[in-house]
Amino acid sequence: MTPSLDVRNLCYAYPDGRVALDGVSLSVAEGERVALIGPNGAGKSTLLQCLNGLLPARLPREAAVRVFGTPLGETTADGIRRSVGLLFQDPDDQFLCPTVREEVRFGPEQFGWEEARIEEAVADALARAGIPDFGPREPHHLSRGEKRRVCLAAVLACSPRLLLLDEPTTDLDPRGKRELREVLRTLPVTILLATHDLEMVVDLCPRAVLLDRGRVIANRPTFDLLSDEPLMLAHGLERPHILSHRHPHG
Ligand code: ADP
Repeated sequence: MTPSLDVRNLCYAYPDGRVALDGVSLSVAEGERVALIGPNGAGKSTLLQCLNGLLPARLPREAAVRVFGTPLGETTADGIRRSVGLLFQDPDDQFLCPTVREEVRFGPEQFGWEEARIEEAVADALARAGIPDFGPREPHHLSRGEKRRVCLAAVLACSPRLLLLDEPTTDLDPRGKRELREVLRTLPVTILLATHDLEMVVDLCPRAVLLDRGRVIANRPTFDLLSDEPLMLAHGLERPHILSHRHPHG
């Protein structure tokens, strides 16, 4: 089966010359949930932003990235972005509209969906994100955790087949974290999750990719990778306590 995501030797340097990705290769199968872990500055955010061709200037070399079999390039980026949802690290980067309802409607409206389909998608996305009554609220007046839920709803309303999540549990309280994990667990989509929240990684992702200095250091079953204390410590991470009373994914 064609993988949802296939990345071959992806390199990326910022305009100031800093190399953020240095030959990254990884593949994610349809329906798989894979964690992207690594210390600050490892290249996690850069990788996620390259994968949905966020800015033309950030498009990787033609054919280095395939999304559902289509090579990501100038002419294909718009189409690919329709099936790839990216939840940004900073929720304020994502707001464009004066109300939550408009914010969540924005994507489906851009797609030109019929009104009934838009309304259904918006209501469903708000409910999944745990904020069914937030439609009339102003995004900029919400708490950080609530903003994050609005961003999630806006992404879910577009019915992505591949979901890229950049530190989605930052600013969420313990209940919010638990609820997000449940939402992600029930979504029938492929997920690539960049996070320092190793409890969520253990809970949600059977496989983990360790990135450091723009390179893939390890790509292994989560339990195996996170249990490797010398490897984790060598790359600014720690073996999570949760592993001491958990069994590996079956
Ligand atoms: P992570 O998400 O793993 O913390 P990032 O992808 O944010 O890592 O950063 C990877 C590297 O790229 C870091 O060295 C960071 O300093 C650098 N970087 C990030 N954004 C920019 C930018 N806009 N301009 C120059 N360098 C950047």
